[in-house]
Amino acid sequence: MKNIALLIFLCASVSLGQTYENNFTNTTMRIDYYHIGTKGQEQITLDKVYEEGAWPGSKVNLLDTLNLGDSFFKVTDLQTNNLIYSRGYSTLFGEWQTTDEAMNGVWKTCQETVRFPFPKKKVVVNFYRRDKFVAAGEMMAFREVFSTVIDPNNPTVVNHEKHQNAFPVFDVMINGSPDKKVDILILGDGYAKGDMEKFRKDAKHFSETLFSYQPFKKHKNDFNVRAIEVISAESGIDIPDKNVWKNTALGTMYNTFGSARYVLTEENRTLRDIAGAAPYDFITILVNDNRYGGGGIFNLYTTSFTQTAKVGQEWEMDYVYVHEFGHCFGGLGDEYYSSQISYVDFYPKGVEPWEPNVTRTNTKETLKWRTFVSDDTPIPTPWRKTEYDSIEALRGKLDRLAADYYDKREDLLKSSKEILKDPKWIGKVGAFEGSGYTSKEMYRPAIDCKMFALNPIDFDPVCAAAIEKMIAMYVR
Ligand SMILES: [Zn+2]
Repeated sequence: MKNIALLIFLCASVSLGQTYENNFTNTTMRIDYYHIGTKGQEQITLDKVYEEGAWPGSKVNLLDTLNLGDSFFKVTDLQTNNLIYSRGYSTLFGEWQTTDEAMNGVWKTCQETVRFPFPKKKVVVNFYRRDKFVAAGEMMAFREVFSTVIDPNNPTVVNHEKHQNAFPVFDVMINGSPDKKVDILILGDGYAKGDMEKFRKDAKHFSETLFSYQPFKKHKNDFNVRAIEVISAESGIDIPDKNVWKNTALGTMYNTFGSARYVLTEENRTLRDIAGAAPYDFITILVNDNRYGGGGIFNLYTTSFTQTAKVGQEWEMDYVYVHEFGHCFGGLGDEYYSSQISYVDFYPKGVEPWEPNVTRTNTKETLKWRTFVSDDTPIPTPWRKTEYDSIEALRGKLDRLAADYYDKREDLLKSSKEILKDPKWIGKVGAFEGSGYTSKEMYRPAIDCKMFALNPIDFDPVCAAAIEKMIAMYVR
């Protein structure tokens, strides 16, 4: 990883003299492509190139030095060979490659998108995948999968069609010009014409919830939030395990990769066509269904169910909103390890995860968040894990879809929360064993965090720092 990181920084310094105005117009280039493959094999083929509305991202921080995501793309001026834009991101395809289906050799095609400021001259766009093993204990390095030359001035290459904006856009919270703010766009799925009042309420509630947790709370003024009133033909979304099928605008569904609570859409082109009507850096899809579920992929989108009434101990959708946004915005990994998931080897053995809040390391010297650890905190950090695990084992046996689920769960949650509220470690950073879907030899920074248990708490200091780094990329 070190060599690649060095390369990225070198390229960054080469293009320091390049201004936004030299290289880009004020609009956005969107490249759609197909991502095809199975476990261990993949190809990318170009689909279509579009010109979309005003560029909503930073006009200063054009190069991504955060080294997050399972994928990366860069844009280079063909003539000068200057790197003029780069960004890390993750894909649905990348997650799918860790499922049983892919392990069994099934092939799949996903349609995906990257966006960057519309270039003035011919550019080379390179697509990378983080899958190159470097050395034990290090992060995977990026390997080039595909590259293409794009001539922005050739009308047979770029589709300049202006989409008729089918759905009204409304402002939830506007704090400034899109290029100086993080622009969140909320879309609804499974909201029929008569559900629009609920959607407007849900969108407002999402925004209020996100900015009630730190570090988003103190950076509220760095964000704009808009929403599009996307009308679906029917109310509710697909629930394959109940044989429920709904005709919705964005094609979201439960049971993604075989997990009852995992909600995603694979209809990327439709999603992007609709989203293109408003400036956006990050997309949130609220689904008009009250069954627990959601999803979040770094720099792609988040999804969440919506409720009209309190269920269980807390309003669970508030947790899902903010947790999933942590994945999508901060590139944060899941710190929990006791819930059922659909992945096999999501974090391959011997490889350090790229997520800033999950690690295989357990010494103070090598810990990637060591600057957050005080001298008197032992690494690894002892906590009542055995006790917690036995409670979680009982919780794991409950049927989430059963009518008495919330009653049965309440006592168990109470006991596990008591462990997570250990006054010795609350607010402190260490290396707590159990993280990234793995009980042993994977560590998280804090005893509890928004990325760990189903608790209405803030992000831990390591996650908060990652989120703040991302905010900084978008606000100047
Ligand atoms: Zn998660």
